[in-house]
Amino acid sequence: MTKVPTSHPRYKSLLLRERLTDGLRAGIAGEAGLLAHGRGEAFDYLLGERTHDFAMESIRMASALLVTANHPVISVNGSTASVAGPEIVELLRALDRLVAEVNIFYYSPERSRRIKQHLKDLGATRLILESNSSDSVQLPDIEHARKHMHPNGLAQADVALVGLEDGDRCERLVASGRRVIAIDLNPLSRTAKTSHVTIVDEVSRALIELTACVRQDLAAAPAALAERIDRYDNADILNRAVAAIRNAF
Ligand code: ATP
Repeated sequence: MTKVPTSHPRYKSLLLRERLTDGLRAGIAGEAGLLAHGRGEAFDYLLGERTHDFAMESIRMASALLVTANHPVISVNGSTASVAGPEIVELLRALDRLVAEVNIFYYSPERSRRIKQHLKDLGATRLILESNSSDSVQLPDIEHARKHMHPNGLAQADVALVGLEDGDRCERLVASGRRVIAIDLNPLSRTAKTSHVTIVDEVSRALIELTACVRQDLAAAPAALAERIDRYDNADILNRAVAAIRNAF
């Protein structure tokens, strides 16, 4: 239950902070996630805390990829689960085939289990996988805990959706041949530059738009989705995001 009054001029921003600090206290988010969130907030401030047309274009592309994928997976870490838990659950509701997999940098079995439970408490009804299973498959060239992939989840994924991602894992996911969609407010991050599709938007806001788009695209003609995928240009999206930030000054 939020302590921030809805009338507060910075209600949405404060609500997200509160979700994250609640996540920290609940043993879901890590302390470093607070710092990463601050960096995200700074970019969001410069972007006017709204979803721009370039982000909508990436969201439409992400939706087309997810709807046409054979095995789409959303990789969930502690920060994303804390800040955008309800929105992740809503996306899972919209797309039956989407698999959720908990994958965290500061791994402990307890923390991984808590993230899973958090999504269930928010209404997720389907099985949520954890990367660090005893039979996990390893993403090459990563030393830390995020190298693990569940054999029925990320290991089989052709499309991976990641939020607030480390640049090195993103690079390895791309190198492994998977199509990677990242949600990252910083268009200059390694994650943003490496991903096939970069949604430069706040993660909870972007997921609401993505879910609406997926619901529409489930009824779209496959040829229309294929054409959208062909036309997409991520370099152009990043340039437009950087230009929007420059224009803030
Ligand atoms: P990289 O390793 O990709 O270069 P980084 O070192 O900045 O990036 P992290 O410290 O893991 O990566 O930070 C995660 C990223 O998530 C940051 O780029 C930050 O701008 C972004 N971010 C933080 N909070 C949010 C949010 N709520 N929505 C979207 N993006 C966010």
